[in-house]
Amino acid sequence: MDRQTEFVLRAVEDRNVKFIRLWFTDVLGFLKSVAIAPAELEGAFSEGIGFDGSAIEGYARVYEADMIAHPDPTTFQLLPWRTKAGTARMFCDITMPDGSPAMADPRHVLKRALKKAADKGFTFYTHPEIEFFLLRADAPWNAPEPLDSGGYFDHTTLDEGTDFRRDAITMLEQMGISVEFSHHEGAPGQHEIDLRYADALSMADNIMTFKVVLKEVAVGQGIRASFLPKPFTEHPGSGMHTHVSLFEGDQNAFYDATDEVRLSKIGKHFIAGLLAHSHEITAVTNQWVNSYKRLAWGGEAPSYVCWGRNNRSALVRVPLFKPDKASSARVEYRAIDSACNPYLAYALLLNAGLDGIDKEMPLPPEAEDDVWSLTDRERSSMGIDTLPRNLENAIAVMEESELVAETLGEHVFDYFLRNKRAEFDEYRRQVTPQELETLLPRL
Ligand code: GLN
Ligand code: MG
Ligand code: MG
Ligand code: MG
Repeated sequence: MDRQTEFVLRAVEDRNVKFIRLWFTDVLGFLKSVAIAPAELEGAFSEGIGFDGSAIEGYARVYEADMIAHPDPTTFQLLPWRTKAGTARMFCDITMPDGSPAMADPRHVLKRALKKAADKGFTFYTHPEIEFFLLRADAPWNAPEPLDSGGYFDHTTLDEGTDFRRDAITMLEQMGISVEFSHHEGAPGQHEIDLRYADALSMADNIMTFKVVLKEVAVGQGIRASFLPKPFTEHPGSGMHTHVSLFEGDQNAFYDATDEVRLSKIGKHFIAGLLAHSHEITAVTNQWVNSYKRLAWGGEAPSYVCWGRNNRSALVRVPLFKPDKASSARVEYRAIDSACNPYLAYALLLNAGLDGIDKEMPLPPEAEDDVWSLTDRERSSMGIDTLPRNLENAIAVMEESELVAETLGEHVFDYFLRNKRAEFDEYRRQVTPQELETLLPRL
């Protein structure tokens, strides 16, 4: 038994933990949980816990349903909101009964991509800026009401949002998740919390935890927290801009002190790879019909494939970092939203960038204008094209993508396409309130 496992067994006894929740994620990014009693824990570590994979979205067909969850002892944390009986959680890796990794397990998809990067000597770090809405719990789901009427960086004293952020951040810190910044965002009821950078696997786990913590704190305060990318037609949506970097040992591989932008060749090829593959990966980074309404609105959400320094209309932004601070050299991918499956999305960002490095893709010229304010013709003469405009277009490009097929693996790739086609088909058949309001009186 290794030291981590011993530590968990001891902590469960010392802290009087009564329930251990084993967490894993389905293909669409929803958290799954099974609770075990402390007496089962040793067995769970040595043999895993069996479950019916066919009941989990995207996992298995009924004839190959048995799967096994293996808790990862390094992810052990007490759940601070379960105060009545001690409860802890661990993330799991999923295998088939023969011990081989389950191809449907998103954590495995990300681990596979990280392994490929590690073989080239790279560690992949990410740092997300997570935006979300706080909504009144008494409003119906189809007519959401924001909790406050603040705007960007507003210091709304005494409003419920400020209390909410304080409680949520305290709880995140209790669970070992470091928060760097938090502030009110541009829309009423909209907030942002930025997590301190971590390796992409820990970060994907952290994002899953983040969403649970925020929802728990919201319920405790009699409100709702939502990660829906675009709840309001008239306000900007919620993104999850993610800053990424590659390290070789303790050296930031994106940094070059002698370069004008302070970016190394590796950093530039990585950006080129992100731009080249951005269309193909959008169905995963922006996986819902609703995600495209955020991208269509402007409001500093990107729609056009280009990069820029400190240009908030660009898809990839190179933030101004302190010129001699090598460790903070990074690039920001701005399309992704927090309603994605972070394991799958981060695996794709990584592989898109690595492909740029492998093929030494040249970095296109920097976009210096506000690309939203240009005409289509101006943009196309500058070689700037548009991200998929809706889920159907995104699926169509993804379907042709070798990079996405290879990164996700055949099982996840096929399942995802099937599921998303069905989502779009259902959406296509909807008659919307907007059509009725504008056309019914006239036609
Ligand atoms: N909410 C915007 C988006 O959807 C971002 C706004 C900002 O962070 N400046 O991407
Ligand atoms: Mg921000
Ligand atoms: Mg923001
Ligand atoms: Mg940002």
